[in-house]
Amino acid sequence: MENDNDEFSKELNVAVRVVHMVCSLCQKVQKQLLSSNNSNQIKSKDDDSLVTVADWSVQATVSWMLSEAFGGQNISIVAEEDVQTLSEPESSAQLGMVVSAVNECLAEAPKFGLKGPNEALGATQVLEAINRCNSTGGPVGQHWVLDPVDGTLGFVRGDQYAIALAMIDDGEVAIGVLGCPNYPVRDDSLIKYSQQCPVMSEMSSREEGCVMYTRKGSGKAWMQPLIHSDKRLELQNSARTIHVSSIDDPALATFCEPVEKTNSNHSFSAGIANTVGLRKQPLRVYSMVKYAAIARGEAEIYMKFARAGYKEKIWDHAAGVLLVQEAGGVVTDAGGTPLDFSRGIYLEGLDRGIVACSGLKLHEKIIEAVYASWESSNL
Ligand SMILES: [Mg+2]
Repeated sequence: MENDNDEFSKELNVAVRVVHMVCSLCQKVQKQLLSSNNSNQIKSKDDDSLVTVADWSVQATVSWMLSEAFGGQNISIVAEEDVQTLSEPESSAQLGMVVSAVNECLAEAPKFGLKGPNEALGATQVLEAINRCNSTGGPVGQHWVLDPVDGTLGFVRGDQYAIALAMIDDGEVAIGVLGCPNYPVRDDSLIKYSQQCPVMSEMSSREEGCVMYTRKGSGKAWMQPLIHSDKRLELQNSARTIHVSSIDDPALATFCEPVEKTNSNHSFSAGIANTVGLRKQPLRVYSMVKYAAIARGEAEIYMKFARAGYKEKIWDHAAGVLLVQEAGGVVTDAGGTPLDFSRGIYLEGLDRGIVACSGLKLHEKIIEAVYASWESSNL
């Protein structure tokens, strides 16, 4: 897929394969979850957000695989989940499910061209792998950044979610990989998908999702269909380049925003959309699939204005932002400044919100509208 002399080509190669592996894990867990209505797999965290067997299993698997491939225990991984809830005695059923999901997934590693463990991991090793992802990142050195399941609510509803893996090198996002198991590779699939109500009966007949990836400075981003372990991962053969849309007329542009109102301000976005002259209804999409849609040219704008007091975390943005940028788009905060991934787990200093666009012309219009609307808003 890459010239071996390119910087971080090994990291990207391993990351893409690992994301394929865990996409397949997530699909299995999502299927079980939706077919059995197995609430046993879902827990609430202290902040009332959801966490599932998939979140922990993906984090453990990615952590184990990256540690195996790069630097053992010294690797720096910043990821969303911790072991607190899972270590409690009342979570022993979940821990059992996580351990078996992780081992089932790791056993497939050779089929993806990677090396798995010689023997199955025990509960202690799985907890250790999750807990190893407790780095807080920072401006120096290399830090892997993982959101094991981005859009957990979309995941439990059988809707869109993403597995987001990035690597930050000296404060800049150097590689980004986004696994989107419910986002088929064919064009217009997101709009068609969001028009149907995703129910279990459609799951089996649905087309395969995709994995998208990029490397900083390549000026390119790639997409390939999800590859199952029964077929060897042929990175070179199945990948195609993706590019942002060339639409720059607001009247024709599609804009995406989060589904949930908890952490975003829909009415402010609607005001901006009106000022800029966007005509279409917003496409409300769970997870970083919004960035994927811009990078693939299926939508032109993604706006997210956070409620006061909410701080954006780097794992919710790193992979998606790099994908949009390398596919030809622009991402900044609402003041027009690039996002700063060098300051720990939060996007510190973020001005009001995030604006991702397919091109500069639309981006400028949105930023101008933000400045014009801000004073009259009640954020
Ligand atoms: Mg998550």
